[in-house]
Amino acid sequence: MAAAMRSRCPGSGALLATLLGPRRGCSSFRASQLEVERSRSPRPKPDPQGLQFGRVFTDHMLSVEWSRAGGWGRPRIRPFQDLRLHPACSALHYAVELFEGMKAFRGADDKIRLFRPELNMQRMERSAQRVCLPAFDGAELLECIRALVRLEQEWVPPGPRASLYIRPTFIGTEPSLGVAPPGQALLFVILCPVGPYFPGGHFSPVGLLADPSHTRAWPGGAGHCKLGGNYGPTIALQRAAQARGCQQVLWLHGPERLLTEVGTMNLFVFWHREDGELELVTPPWTADPARGDAAESAGAGAGVGEFGVREGPLPMGTVLAALAQGRLREMFGSGTACVVCPVGGILYEEKWYPVPTMEHGPELAQRFLRVLSDIQYGHVPSEWAQPL
Ligand SMILES: *Cc1c(COP(=O)(O)O)cnc(C)c1O
Repeated sequence: MAAAMRSRCPGSGALLATLLGPRRGCSSFRASQLEVERSRSPRPKPDPQGLQFGRVFTDHMLSVEWSRAGGWGRPRIRPFQDLRLHPACSALHYAVELFEGMKAFRGADDKIRLFRPELNMQRMERSAQRVCLPAFDGAELLECIRALVRLEQEWVPPGPRASLYIRPTFIGTEPSLGVAPPGQALLFVILCPVGPYFPGGHFSPVGLLADPSHTRAWPGGAGHCKLGGNYGPTIALQRAAQARGCQQVLWLHGPERLLTEVGTMNLFVFWHREDGELELVTPPWTADPARGDAAESAGAGAGVGEFGVREGPLPMGTVLAALAQGRLREMFGSGTACVVCPVGGILYEEKWYPVPTMEHGPELAQRFLRVLSDIQYGHVPSEWAQPL
């Protein structure tokens, strides 16, 4: 199992294995040992239309404790409650913390589906390895999450754009100040009903602040892992973007000013290359739907004809040249939270560069959203979304 985990983290796996020594590869908690304590005071379900992201939580949570001496405990579903933490706890001092973000969708057929949840489990296993949190079997965690969502199924809101956001979290609870692998840890999962990201279901384009003096992730860093420590430092720039009339940050990297991400979303650029070919490009280190069936079906019959799909670097100069020459058709972000988010312009070195995404439909962004939603809500059968 440890070997399998390492092989999913190409390049860094061997080095990390050397750094970390042998992992407790086969030890994991088991979904078959799940204990359930039901809440005696279930709360009324909110109207999904007015929900602000991440403010309302369901009646129950899942938690599992680990210690070096005792290994994994039994997974437990309990009434939603506060945590008790030692003030020296390593999550608080050294950001020994990671999380995931995934969603459960209620289809028109009233069935509830998770979207490619195994991939969230794999990323969570990789993130855990990166901050020396103990190994676990993602398949077992996924079974526990399914049980939690089944118990809370009335909290999965109906409606074509609503969902139940699932937040697995894993923290070091080591009660001492040494900078070392934690000897105690807590994995927990909480749930929030969420409404449509765009009220009314219509796209509104976002403006992006691209400030080359800030970097979110870099080669050799931990930007590809979902660590809380990657997010806290980004909030100040997000606020600066809002103060400048933008909605999101366009994260750049290196002397070429490579476009890497939009806020907390993966970035997509749809353009005509210099040779005239139409293509969709996303920066590397992503494992996104554009590489698979969704993009292929998006290409066929999207009204934009055939196009290539490529993972590759996007230097700012190349993107601005494509904009100036009228070759750039659409730019958008995509991620669990908003699904698809079109870009309307970039503020870069004090200059505003309008991006004509909306002027082009946006045909591809809309198609992308439709293909994903059809899968997530079960309108189109797919291995990517199976009923609970
Ligand atoms: C979570 C995350 C995203 C979005 O990933 P999805 O699982 O598709 O929502 C993009 N970039 C980073 C760095 C992330 O942590």
